[in-house]
Amino acid sequence: MSRRMSDEYLLWLILTNTIVIRKLWHPKPDLYVNGRFVKPILNEQGGKKRIFGGKRYRWKIQHEGRCRRIMCSKLVWMYVHQCIIPDDCRIHHESKGHLNDSIGNLDMMTYEDHQRHHYPSLANKD
Ligand SMILES: [Zn+2]
Repeated sequence: MSRRMSDEYLLWLILTNTIVIRKLWHPKPDLYVNGRFVKPILNEQGGKKRIFGGKRYRWKIQHEGRCRRIMCSKLVWMYVHQCIIPDDCRIHHESKGHLNDSIGNLDMMTYEDHQRHHYPSLANKD
């Protein structure tokens, strides 16, 4: 069984060019790990608490006994900014929708701002 790959480990793979993402402005950027193309997988968003479900593209990344399934949006953002996304932040897909992982369609928001953005009616209740 492989161990889960941490965000820190992913960042190290990015900084050492083990992970390379091309076509960053394309709706479906291309991922290479150690020079090998990794195909995105379309699946349901995980977690029972998610209200706005729907499909997202993810990559399954394997490296030296470690494995991680990560939303393409999150890895694209990490790759471009070369840093880890703080725990209380989320990567939001802008006007072009949840299946468009172009860097131009992604924005980092705090969890609270993200909830407010998607559920303005909940935010107004007090
Ligand atoms: Zn969002």
